[in-house]
Amino acid sequence: VDYPLAIRHRNGAVMDVLYNASVYRDESGAVAGVFAAARDITERKRAEDELRRAKDQAEAANRAKSVFLATMSHELRTPLNAILGFSDLMRNDPDITDGQRENLEIINRSGGHLLSLINDVLDMAKIEAGRVVMEIKPFDLGALALDITNMLRVRAEEKGLRLTLDQSHELPRFIKGDQDKLRLVIVNLVNNAIKYTNHGEVILRMGIQPEVEDIRLIIEVEDTGVGVSQEDQADIFKPFVQVGKPATQKGTGLGLAIVKEYVQLMGGRIGVESVLDKGSLFRAIIPATSAEEGEVAAPQSVTAQVAGLEPGQPRYRIMIVEDQQENWLLLRRLLEDAGFEVKVAANGEEAVKMFQSYRPGFIWMDRRMPVMDGLEATRRIRALDGGKDVKIVAVTASALTEDRAEILSIGMDDFVRKPYRPMEIFDCMAKHLGVRYVYKQTAPTGVGALVPAAELAGLPATLRRELADGLILGNVERLAELMTRVERQDAALAKSLARHINSFNYLPILKALETSETNFKEPAP
Ligand code: ADP
Repeated sequence: VDYPLAIRHRNGAVMDVLYNASVYRDESGAVAGVFAAARDITERKRAEDELRRAKDQAEAANRAKSVFLATMSHELRTPLNAILGFSDLMRNDPDITDGQRENLEIINRSGGHLLSLINDVLDMAKIEAGRVVMEIKPFDLGALALDITNMLRVRAEEKGLRLTLDQSHELPRFIKGDQDKLRLVIVNLVNNAIKYTNHGEVILRMGIQPEVEDIRLIIEVEDTGVGVSQEDQADIFKPFVQVGKPATQKGTGLGLAIVKEYVQLMGGRIGVESVLDKGSLFRAIIPATSAEEGEVAAPQSVTAQVAGLEPGQPRYRIMIVEDQQENWLLLRRLLEDAGFEVKVAANGEEAVKMFQSYRPGFIWMDRRMPVMDGLEATRRIRALDGGKDVKIVAVTASALTEDRAEILSIGMDDFVRKPYRPMEIFDCMAKHLGVRYVYKQTAPTGVGALVPAAELAGLPATLRRELADGLILGNVERLAELMTRVERQDAALAKSLARHINSFNYLPILKALETSETNFKEPAP
């Protein structure tokens, strides 16, 4: 065996050597001496160190680039949403000419395309910056597959394609894994299959690899579409690569790159087999572990709403620290309606002052504020008398996946991401304060209220498409953003739509959206 050692040369220089020693024995077997050799590896070690340094540097630079990109894309989205929102609006103006309306449609469509590009770049950048964390939880895989198929079937049938789900009987119904990422992977593959197929069918096949101990999910999406030539097959998973006839390109070229990254993050791999003009078969193999039905969190009773506090509990004093009026107005109303006592501080400095007189038991702390931000305010409050006992929960709007550990390390108890659903707020307070609520059961929206199909048809085409994509992916954040655009168009529609969305009643909305799209293209004679 070689032992690495640092030794001092006779000339005083320190050098790295690999040292190797063995004993030799005389005829009787007694140790007669030691043979030792040291090989000078100073040069080799220096080269290795240099290489490692260069690699570290390159990795750090790459991470910095990705963080920059992620932040940048987030900043770009805000003004772009204004462009989209106002071009949506102007289109309803009765005074504009047909020519102007056409120009507005182009602005709107281009803006929509730009937004999906930015969203995809943001997703890629987050992955590359190492900001995407896996959230492993037990979930109902069977329900996921069925839900995706039902949602996308609307889209397939609109093109005259058949979409079927072929589920192996060996497929475990419940597994532990990252449900949202798996959903995105399957949705992207099936969406592509529909996009690049004009006749025939698309099959989503779900099974497991036999004869291996752990579960390996096999997800196959097969279509009878345009296919991908042999030489292009390796390239389509690279960012921005689009192949085939230019007329058939309809996306950003990032979809499959993101899919591949996600599959790899989950520890799996993905490939394609395809024959041009015959069809394609995308196959992903992803490791998972099985779960029991009991472990799967019961789907939050989506029709339940907090009616108030259960009687006989201590009086809870809550402080909201938030500079933006529209945000604190909403949160204050929510909490006061439930029966909490609430005060608002407009920034960190006010919060520190108010804490000493008001003595809240719970603080909702915005992170970014003028004068003093949420982190600094938390640090100061924690240092005050009684400041260790108050529960402080951050409300963050960051585009990047917040590192839970970082939030906890600065002394906060938890965080909730904006935009939040009311139940998230109440659940968080129940978790940290032990508050108990009484609930009111509202009529499930699906039964009572109808989806306003005619009004949905009046929305701009780009917005309808984006809404449909948001619903299929179940992307709550993006849906909230889109709802503000719907609100500018038609406040009443936004309100009734919000009721359906808040109770996860997605499929009827989707059906209405995709049907109105057909109506839009082929107006009744
Ligand atoms: P895009 O946004 O262009 O769809 P993707 O990364 O999802 O980007 O796909 C990259 C390219 O791979 C597409 O532009 C298309 O040429 C090809 N492709 C993807 N899926 C299929 C499919 N099911 N059938 C044929 N070609 C496909």
